[in-house]
Amino acid sequence: MCFEGEKAEIQRSKRGVEYVAEKIYVYNKPIEPLPVDTIGKVPTLLDTRIRYRYLLVRNPLEKAIFSIRNTILKAAREYFEKNNFFEIHTPKIVAAGAEGGATLFELKYFERKAYLSQSPQLYKQMLISSIPRVYEITPYFRAEKFNTTRHLNESWGIDVEQGFIDSEEDVMNTLENLIKYIVDSIRNRCREELEILGIELKPLSTPFRRLTYEEAVDILRSEGIEVSEGEDLSEAAEKVLGKIMAEKGYDIYFITKFPFETTGFYYMREEDGIHTRKFDLDYKGLEISSGGQREHRYEKLIEAMKLKGLNPDNFQFYLEAFKYGMPPHGGFGLGVERLMMGMLGLKNVREAILFVRDRTRLTP
Ligand code: ATP
Ligand code: MG
Repeated sequence: MCFEGEKAEIQRSKRGVEYVAEKIYVYNKPIEPLPVDTIGKVPTLLDTRIRYRYLLVRNPLEKAIFSIRNTILKAAREYFEKNNFFEIHTPKIVAAGAEGGATLFELKYFERKAYLSQSPQLYKQMLISSIPRVYEITPYFRAEKFNTTRHLNESWGIDVEQGFIDSEEDVMNTLENLIKYIVDSIRNRCREELEILGIELKPLSTPFRRLTYEEAVDILRSEGIEVSEGEDLSEAAEKVLGKIMAEKGYDIYFITKFPFETTGFYYMREEDGIHTRKFDLDYKGLEISSGGQREHRYEKLIEAMKLKGLNPDNFQFYLEAFKYGMPPHGGFGLGVERLMMGMLGLKNVREAILFVRDRTRLTP
């Protein structure tokens, strides 16, 4: 529908401009009435919001969330442009997974087996000796077994890899500056959207607080939360830690030096052989990113694969790139929907993506 008319003399609406319509053109009449309230007067259940998202993005509340998502991605690209990162695209149909077999989606690739890519990890690393600063905005496909409020089966990540680093600190600097840039951009450019959502988005100051995995475990144990040696932090543990850190004034913080037992094979191990240069970034008790310095030495990489029970033969295409000289490098994957959950206080990751792919949803 569109109309012709003049601007109304008296403007009553708080948002937009009111007109007095003189002519209305109807392009296409609905076959049935709309199944949902697109004005936003009646609250809609999450199930219905997901089912009819394509209509509900007309509703100011729903629209505000996705306008902010749009601005997050624009701001990220701007940040990369300003900081000399090179945008790449890596294959989404792959022969081996970077994050282990449990969450791989298998598919038939002619007479062979293939998988949907869990992350661009291996490919972005392979490029580092030729293109030392890369990024990719990419889907992650993961067959997460459980229905949770923070896992999708198709989610989106902002992935970065950079070469010639001294340690994982260089990568953490990139990540905290990127997030600060994004938050500042949303605060400046999405004032109306934040107001519609009733959100006060606090500015973040860098550097973000850092605590080691061991310090995190000590804090948790002192609160009576049991963490076994060499175990990744559970969702419950992350939440408790988030609360404790918030009381100390930290909404966002790094957890560093994860033990090798909890990490992917590709993280660089420290001299002690126990800890690695892997970090997580948690925002209000939710993991939004993982990253670190990678192992760039061929022999060490083979050793790490064997320790993880992986067969180096299945990763020849990847290992080959380490034979021709690879600089020290590192990077991270930042979940777009998780970042939105942290920034906007969303309770369910499904609120942050237009079309949801989860355990039960394959349409629309
Ligand atoms: P988690 O432990 O929360 O399942 P992960 O450690 O397996 O996540 P990573 O491999 O570290 O995930 O992926 C990098 C980032 O991508 C995560 O920090 C998160 O923000 C996001 N991410 C990963 N898997 C999912 C998913 N299934 N749904 C939504 N976001 C995800
Ligand atoms: Mg992680």
